[in-house]
Amino acid sequence: MGKLFGTNGVRGFANQDMNAELALKLGKSLGSFLKPGERVLVGTDTRTSGPMLKAALTAGLLATGVEVHDAGVVPTPALQYKVKRGGSGAQRGVDEPAGSSYYAAGAVITASHNPPEFNGIKFIDPDGTEMHHTKEDAIEDLFFNDRFRLVPWAQLGHVAVMPNVNEEYVEGILAKVDVQAIRARKLKVVLDTSNGAGGLTAPYLLQRLGCHVITLNTQPDGTFPGHNSEPTPDNVKDLVQSVTAFGADLGVVQDGDADRCVFVDDQGNYVYGDRTLTLMAGQAVAMNGGKGTVVTPVSSSSIVEQYVKAKGGSVTYTRVGAPIVARKMMEIKALIGGEENGGLIWPEFQYCRDASMTLAKVVEVIAKTGKSFSQLLGEVPVAHVYKTKVTCPDNKKVAALDALAKAHAKGGKVDLTDGVKIFSDDGWVLVRPSGTEPIYRIFADAKSPEAAKRLAESSKSEIEQIISKV
Ligand code: MG
Repeated sequence: MGKLFGTNGVRGFANQDMNAELALKLGKSLGSFLKPGERVLVGTDTRTSGPMLKAALTAGLLATGVEVHDAGVVPTPALQYKVKRGGSGAQRGVDEPAGSSYYAAGAVITASHNPPEFNGIKFIDPDGTEMHHTKEDAIEDLFFNDRFRLVPWAQLGHVAVMPNVNEEYVEGILAKVDVQAIRARKLKVVLDTSNGAGGLTAPYLLQRLGCHVITLNTQPDGTFPGHNSEPTPDNVKDLVQSVTAFGADLGVVQDGDADRCVFVDDQGNYVYGDRTLTLMAGQAVAMNGGKGTVVTPVSSSSIVEQYVKAKGGSVTYTRVGAPIVARKMMEIKALIGGEENGGLIWPEFQYCRDASMTLAKVVEVIAKTGKSFSQLLGEVPVAHVYKTKVTCPDNKKVAALDALAKAHAKGGKVDLTDGVKIFSDDGWVLVRPSGTEPIYRIFADAKSPEAAKRLAESSKSEIEQIISKV
């Protein structure tokens, strides 16, 4: 059996491997997993292949007697919020309990930050989180065995348009931050939504927060004419320039489906995701009376733990992957969690990465502390991270990693949460097998850039030697 669902649902090249036939079959598979009459909320980002894939997915769902609600173009977290919240358009403003199961599932058609020729389909659980792997496996089983429950003509599903999903999402965020305090600060913000779905929510959110908003690439356009939708330093040069030119208090860029965001401070510095995570995690602990737990994967920089501990909190580490972080947060009732790529999770709102909620929280911290963004970031320790990779045939990955773990088991401290993380006096190095490529990713985090490079390169030659022997 092939593995259909990767770490971010099903992804592929539009009209080649990610085509209408695949979407139709996925719709029939999800629909057959659910019961006739149950509801699925479907939405897309701004990609040109979105309407084609949505129509095909919808056809498959309807054929199994499932009801389809069409959210239109929406950020991934906006769709997740609506699935969690439930309720029809007519009941707008009435909060149903989380996981009320008004929706049996959600389906979002997006390839997140990938180039415009890609697209993907990701399923959502009734509580708004990314679908659990056990359910994905069951759906995959139906998919590969063509076991579809097609209903008689009189029981086919219907389509209803859900026009207010983006507005409900913005209202939901506004209810979770101190709007008065933020409005009083009258911040100037340059916003870049990468021509993605965030353009339909983030400008209005900032407007409602009393910010002076300057927009870049906020018109939805699936060809991504502004820049590719991955918020790397190269892709946000216009944002950096604009923040400086307009004398803005901050700049922010959201990726194509607006679950992740990266910031630029008032001095025009690109702020790496691990610094934003560290600042916001420490502030969340401070605002919680100097206690609380933060959840992040083992690959995150040690600055998260340094800053969080200094504020009185603690850190729990998980394997890499946003849904894994989210589920651990639920389990231990964490204050906040997130990844070093700018994906932050706010449990008071919902258990998924959320770029607009992160933006609202960042402007709230700036407003409430009375400090500038660069002053706040100045309190965050500096990370020295070095990343490299090593090629390894898939059939050697497990044995080589075992050998590496054994070689270090006696001497010092080793963590096997995800891959092998080896601690030393200088810092740590993590060797992790990639889930999609025949490589190990190597991350090092140390007290100086030189030490980080030394740690990474020494582990690289060590694992290369092991690979040649196993
Ligand atoms: Mg994304």
